[in-house]
Amino acid sequence: MKDSNCIFCKIADGEIPSATLYEDEEFRVILDLNPATKGHCLILPKEHYANLFEIPEEVLGRAALVAKKIGTKLVNGLHASGLNVLQNNGVCAGQTVFHFHIHLIPRYEGDKMSVGWKPGTLTDEDRKEILEIFS
Ligand code: 5GP
Ligand code: ZN
Repeated sequence: MKDSNCIFCKIADGEIPSATLYEDEEFRVILDLNPATKGHCLILPKEHYANLFEIPEEVLGRAALVAKKIGTKLVNGLHASGLNVLQNNGVCAGQTVFHFHIHLIPRYEGDKMSVGWKPGTLTDEDRKEILEIFS
């Protein structure tokens, strides 16, 4: 399914041109317009899924294979030192485009990219509550 109001549906479909690094029947990988580092790109499924909770497992599995293949080629081709694979779900998690996508962000020594948090403490209460969800 496509969403006629979704910019990533239009880009993935080729209706809006993009700098495409890779395309197959199910995905398009494009350069991000506002890259965090050189080579920052986005894996877009051609079907519209808003987020991780909506994307079918088998599509997600194939997207992970694209991440490995394109991420490896990017890092080798750009002589990067590492790679962040990021995927945001929900406004509070930093999602701004509500069409599932995976960020591939090559990393370089001294680059300006940051993914960080202040380490907290796992409380007894939280551990108990969370483990109960999975018991
Ligand atoms: P999010 O914050 O939703 O995880 O990531 C959205 C990403 O899409 C951002 O990194 C943003 O720079 C990128 N982006 C937004 N609109 C466009 C666009 O029209 N074309 C391209 N190539 N990237 C876009
Ligand atoms: Zn879409």
